[in-house]
Amino acid sequence: DKRVVIIGAGHGGGNLAASLRQAGHVGEIVLIGDEAIVPYHRPPLSKGYLKGSVDVDTLKLRPESWYESNNITLRLGVSAEAIDPAAREVRLADGAMLTYDRLVLATGARARRLAVPGADLRGVLYLRDITDADRIREAVRPAKRLAIIGGGYIGLEAAASAIALGSKVVLLEREDRILARVACTPLAEFFDGYHRAKGLMIRTGVQVEAIEGASGHVAGVRLADGELLGCDAVLVGVGAALCDHLARDAGLVCEAGGVAVDANGRTSSPGIYAIGDMTWRPMPLYGDRMFRLESVQNAVEQARRVAADITGKPAPTHEVPWFWSDQYDLKLQIVGVPFDSHRLVVRGSIEDAKFAIFHLSDRDRVLAVEAVNLAPEFMAARTLVGERRRVAAERLADTSVPIKEIVQ
Ligand code: FAD
Repeated sequence: DKRVVIIGAGHGGGNLAASLRQAGHVGEIVLIGDEAIVPYHRPPLSKGYLKGSVDVDTLKLRPESWYESNNITLRLGVSAEAIDPAAREVRLADGAMLTYDRLVLATGARARRLAVPGADLRGVLYLRDITDADRIREAVRPAKRLAIIGGGYIGLEAAASAIALGSKVVLLEREDRILARVACTPLAEFFDGYHRAKGLMIRTGVQVEAIEGASGHVAGVRLADGELLGCDAVLVGVGAALCDHLARDAGLVCEAGGVAVDANGRTSSPGIYAIGDMTWRPMPLYGDRMFRLESVQNAVEQARRVAADITGKPAPTHEVPWFWSDQYDLKLQIVGVPFDSHRLVVRGSIEDAKFAIFHLSDRDRVLAVEAVNLAPEFMAARTLVGERRRVAAERLADTSVPIKEIVQ
């Protein structure tokens, strides 16, 4: 009958409340969130929600009534300001003090701010929550000029949505290619070509020096070589800044990559767990090396494992990490993480936008797979990566051998 307090009512926190009830937890559950809305899906914010094809109610993980019928106490619209592990207490911004038997940190991350002159002008936008998405929807209108800073998944998804809405979009990337941190070169080249063909102007290897304004509003982006690109709004998508200050202030062990947790989400402080984007977690499929995953699958998996740990149930089996991204009519699905990738094998046709890139180890083990518009290969990849299967490169590349046969 422990009292579980969850800080952060996002993907991890919301799912944890549900997993705890499913695991038979009968004690009190308090879910604290600084957004004034029940937990919701963030992925559509750069996709369907931005384009207007998904509404707010569809975004919610569960309707408001679910929390009441499952006896979850919601404290929304208020942030947690400090935790005291010795006293087992949480202080909220409204002055309330809450005691806990188990505390779970699920505060995720925020969009990293751009530190250049002019970054505080009106029309400089970020994308992490629903309020941000609403602002972007206002700015992304037919014939409006949008500059996107950062060629990661969020920047590219937002570019595809803005183009679908009729905006003129330029994407600025500091590295010499898009998706530099998160995709292999052939995949990035494919996306680069596909976006350009849809009308996105991509400028790689450029440094933003300042945002220029007129009457307090964005008027353009100044590059380091002096060039000025005129625009009506700027969307900054340069990665995430972790919301880990509660953990750091309370002396929990943290690394640069996040709050250190074990396979069951336990932090260094007894009774305190952490889940989701903010965690630096072991990767059991890859020799337990530590890593940070920013995905829905990771948040949901960690929520299940923490619920099992708190309720004394057997730990669920480890999942294979996966992630997806939708851009135009492309569905990218990624399985695993290509640590120590030795060789890339392409199966299918990059030209026809229907292919999978297999990352093999030096011993031909399937480490990770990036599949575009190839759901069967994605499904098979979950088994191949999860079982660390060895498959000959020639067999993978040969589409006359059905993927079902390879995975058997
Ligand atoms: P969050 O869902 O961010 O929840 C954290 C919550 O805690 C937030 O509501 C935050 O406001 C709140 N909070 C922070 N500090 C405090 C505090 N002190 N007190 C109270 N509350 C606090 N993943 C995929 O797998 N596929 C995708 O296609 C995909 N697309 C995405 C598109 C966008 C635009 C974004 C932003 C993310 C996307 N993601 C995607 C990532 C995915 O949404 C995250 O990995 C997931 O939401 C992480 O869950 P979380 O609980 O760790 O954090």
